[in-house]
Amino acid sequence: MIICDLHTHTRFSFDGAKDSTPEALCRRALEVGITHLAITDHCDINGEVEGIYTPYAADEAWEAMSAAKEKFKGRLHLSRGIELGNAHQYPNEAKAALLRHPYEFVIGSLHNLTGVPDFCMLRYEMMTDAHIHSLFDRMLDETLQLVSFDGLHTLGHLTYMHRYISLAQKPFDFKPHYDKIVGIYKSLITRDMALELNVSTLWKGLGISMPTLELLKLYRDQGGRLITVGSDAHSPENVGKCIRKGYALLRTAGFSEVAVMEDGQRTAVSII
Ligand SMILES: [Zn+2]
Ligand SMILES: [Zn+2]
Repeated sequence: MIICDLHTHTRFSFDGAKDSTPEALCRRALEVGITHLAITDHCDINGEVEGIYTPYAADEAWEAMSAAKEKFKGRLHLSRGIELGNAHQYPNEAKAALLRHPYEFVIGSLHNLTGVPDFCMLRYEMMTDAHIHSLFDRMLDETLQLVSFDGLHTLGHLTYMHRYISLAQKPFDFKPHYDKIVGIYKSLITRDMALELNVSTLWKGLGISMPTLELLKLYRDQGGRLITVGSDAHSPENVGKCIRKGYALLRTAGFSEVAVMEDGQRTAVSII
């Protein structure tokens, strides 16, 4: 069976491990039986424009990814990608960031609401349920804006905010948000964009995926078929972790294929 990991970070991400070079990720990918790997370092455009994050070293990262692609040619399908954060907040700058290099795989992610710190920084344990639901609702509104940005291949970790709600040990019911979630799914389907199954919360022991099994089923019920899978590893040892568990979840939700990239071309492979 083809095992893919289409969401990984190197030292070119502000939160990547120092030993996480493109070459080290490729080496590890081969060790754990991965055939399709995407390197997707952070380029959070809001953080760059507002001067919060160190700007993404796009040229240096591209060079290192290209050298690794050449080195592992014939053994690994490596996509030179990027995780473009919050593109809808600064669309012109985001467009320019995508034009710097011919990226073969682009994840569109939302890490924070406009003018609000990263979802990981919010104190959910201090909030009422109504407050959390109103923030989740705003998150879905911004995600809908994000997916209308051109040039994205997949929507990264749709329920990133839920990861931190869970860590605060707050129960959360998605049902009041189904209409907006379905709206996002319909937009993905119309735009021929994939939904990412991000399994980092599985290997971190949270017992949930992003999105959850419930929301994967909802995607399928709406006609969604395009899924990419990623570990969101930030160091070589986590490459490929829980991808097989992710496949099992997808099979439970009724999926039989995932999307992988081969030199910028999307193709579907069986997970049965
Ligand atoms: Zn992310
Ligand atoms: Zn990531």
